[in-house]
Amino acid sequence: MSKIILTGDRPTGRLHVGHYAGSLRGRVALQNSGIYDKIFIMIADAQALTDNAEQPEKVRQNIIEVALDYLSCGLDPEKSTLLIQSQIPELCELSFYYMNLVTVSRLQRNPTVKSEIQMRNFEASIPVGFFTYPISQAADITAFKATTVPVGEDQLPMLEQTKEIVRKFNSIYGDTLVEPEVLLPDNKACLRLPGIDGKAKMSKSLNNCIYLSDTEEEVRKKVMSMFTDPNHLQVSDPGQVEGNPVFIYLDAYCKDEMFAEYLPDYANLEELKAHYTKGGLGDVKVKKFLNNVLQEVLSPIRLKRKEWEKDIPAVYEILRRGSLEAREVASQTLSDVKNSMKINYFDDQALIAKQAEKYAQ
Ligand code: ATP
Ligand code: MG
Repeated sequence: MSKIILTGDRPTGRLHVGHYAGSLRGRVALQNSGIYDKIFIMIADAQALTDNAEQPEKVRQNIIEVALDYLSCGLDPEKSTLLIQSQIPELCELSFYYMNLVTVSRLQRNPTVKSEIQMRNFEASIPVGFFTYPISQAADITAFKATTVPVGEDQLPMLEQTKEIVRKFNSIYGDTLVEPEVLLPDNKACLRLPGIDGKAKMSKSLNNCIYLSDTEEEVRKKVMSMFTDPNHLQVSDPGQVEGNPVFIYLDAYCKDEMFAEYLPDYANLEELKAHYTKGGLGDVKVKKFLNNVLQEVLSPIRLKRKEWEKDIPAVYEILRRGSLEAREVASQTLSDVKNSMKINYFDDQALIAKQAEKYAQ
């Protein structure tokens, strides 16, 4: 069986270091591993509209931002298909049929949907489209017959939902859809990077992000203002590294060789953590190191972005061509689905002949 990747992001803002650690960095590595037959990277604008219906301009403006972030991180349109969700109408049709296979109570139990409803203050009036987005996500994944979906931890319930839909569909209508496997980052710190404010998730909607396209100065300011251990008041105080965003970012991003370059008093992160835990190490010193680490990761991305920014029409052309190619694949899947569901009346000569025979008697 072919190995196919589908993953993507909502164009609700520029991408941040949480996206990079949780998904984007891994995608680039998977793309360059050469072991996948096809890689589809989707800008999920239709999904973004489910909770931004009144802000279509926000979604429209952020498509190019996300595309520029992709290209500057090393996604290569020669190796990966970059597409825009709304340009593949087949996805809506698939969702419509999958809706019959999912109950309202099952959607209500989805922990990600639950917490997102709370975060957006939707409790009293949830848009139906938002409530059902896990189903449309199942359509996205299955339309491309994805075997592998590399995402951050918050997406696990979505993958569970997709698998259930696939199993139910295949058991009712016969083997048609491919059951995908989730691929989480190996590094635990990358599963869900917290915000610079200490909130559990860095998220475009929470305004607590370090963006991949932030300037050197913006990154420095954000790092220096980061939330750390609130009980670590004096340099001499013992500090806590667990749950401390500065150390979680270091877990996600620093490599041993960066110590030799920027903080040679320590050989590795374990030594730095031990000193912080014991007391006698100030937050400013750790933050300065984190700033150096992040600048090293982000500066090549920033440079590459500047190059692509000079040719915006070319970026739109990449998305246009990718969407066309993706549409062909989704259209084949939709046709398979309709065949399995027996809603292919005009292709079924046997059906027509049989009905004709029935009425001929
Ligand atoms: P929104 O607030 O609009 O939902 P978001 O920041 O959650 O935006 P998404 O576009 O929903 O971003 O997520 C895109 C991908 O990035 C998903 O695979 C998700 O798991 C991953 N991701 C998002 N935020 C983080 C994070 N803080 N840490 C690790 N991975 C993340
Ligand atoms: Mg999200």
